[in-house]
Amino acid sequence: MKDVVANKLSISNADFKPSPLIPVDDALKALLQDVKVTHETELISLSEGLNRVLATEPVSKVDVPPQDNSSMDGYAMAVSSLNADQATTLSLSSRIAAGDDPAPLKLGTVARIFTGANIPRGADAVVMQEQVEVDGEQVTLPAKVTVSQNIRPRGQDICAGELLYPVGRKLQPADLGVLASAGISEILVFKRLQVAILSTGDELQEPGEDPLAGKIFNSNRAMLNALIEQLGMQVVDIGKVADTLEATVAALSDAAERADLIISTGGVSVGEEDHIKAAVNTLGQLNMWRIKLKPGKPLAYGRVAGTPIFGLPGNPASALITFSLFARPYLIKLQGGLPVAALRFKVGANFEHLKAGAREEYLRGVYSEGGVVPFKNQSSGMLSTASRANGLIVIPVGQQVSIGDKVDFIPFSELFA
Ligand code: AMP
Ligand code: MG
Repeated sequence: MKDVVANKLSISNADFKPSPLIPVDDALKALLQDVKVTHETELISLSEGLNRVLATEPVSKVDVPPQDNSSMDGYAMAVSSLNADQATTLSLSSRIAAGDDPAPLKLGTVARIFTGANIPRGADAVVMQEQVEVDGEQVTLPAKVTVSQNIRPRGQDICAGELLYPVGRKLQPADLGVLASAGISEILVFKRLQVAILSTGDELQEPGEDPLAGKIFNSNRAMLNALIEQLGMQVVDIGKVADTLEATVAALSDAAERADLIISTGGVSVGEEDHIKAAVNTLGQLNMWRIKLKPGKPLAYGRVAGTPIFGLPGNPASALITFSLFARPYLIKLQGGLPVAALRFKVGANFEHLKAGAREEYLRGVYSEGGVVPFKNQSSGMLSTASRANGLIVIPVGQQVSIGDKVDFIPFSELFA
């Protein structure tokens, strides 16, 4: 193995002939086809369930609600005890609060009842308290009370035995509430993916260090860490990697051993200091490089000792956008999750884009009620605009945009959640 690595270390950027750029949609399709899902599972408590991916279909143990109950503070009675077209006075026979297990209602009487309290046997309607007159133990109810009014029927929300979610569901806050309402306290989920991140670049230093001449602070590391945690996955932080082929090979083989997937930033362009592609080829295979995308053209993908690697461009805005468009859906599928294409919305353009581009463009922009506007400076080195934007404006290849045209907009809430 050592010899093979040594032989291959002679690969240089000159060996990577610029191939035609791959259209964004084709690249994503090919990437998703290359996902080899791992199926290790674990049983966890519901309180640990946020963003975890279900490995079995949970089934409700109970009807929700378990009994007919009142949706109002008011009075419960049998509609058959009332006059249809005029008010009726009945005497009060019981008081039922939420949590009580009420006795049957005495025939021809009315029960005081509160929101969420079970309807007693013998009652089939609730009149809200604002519509009755109470005089001591005598309650006068209005005309035209209908059967079932203000009653939430048993099983209205969920029925016992109902399948609640499919395998692959990434659990969101309301899902956890639904599972709890169904009496479920433990769930079987896929084990969290281990995602290695590494930053290439001799110019990088970490925030907290004294600024040195010629250096910049590493922004991709903090950003990727957060992007991966937000997906419910675990970061294996490989740290910073020097701009040599030897160091890159060593870091990638370490990462491949420790993680299910590797994400690197930088070193995927055509410069002499860019070693990711050669390192991937040394240890495995580069499957994809260069996308018809702006920003993010030099995105690279391959496998290192069988472990998939996304070589994201070093420019932080490119890293963010290529992660969101390609690595994110790949990771979700690899984690066992169902495909969830980010929603895009047609919105009015409050800008002009007169130069039709040769690559699909993703502009950092701000949507507000009147439409969408991109930031003037779309430099891929500028991350601050990405953090002030609330989404990406998509401009297809060859398209010009005039004010008032409809353009696709992907809100960041679709990508960062
Ligand atoms: P590269 O792809 O390595 O040529 O990097 C492209 C640009 O991104 C260069 O200006 C780098 O300094 C910058 N860059 C690379 N990695 C990082 C990082 N982790 N944080 C901030 N900027 C970076
Ligand atoms: Mg670099």
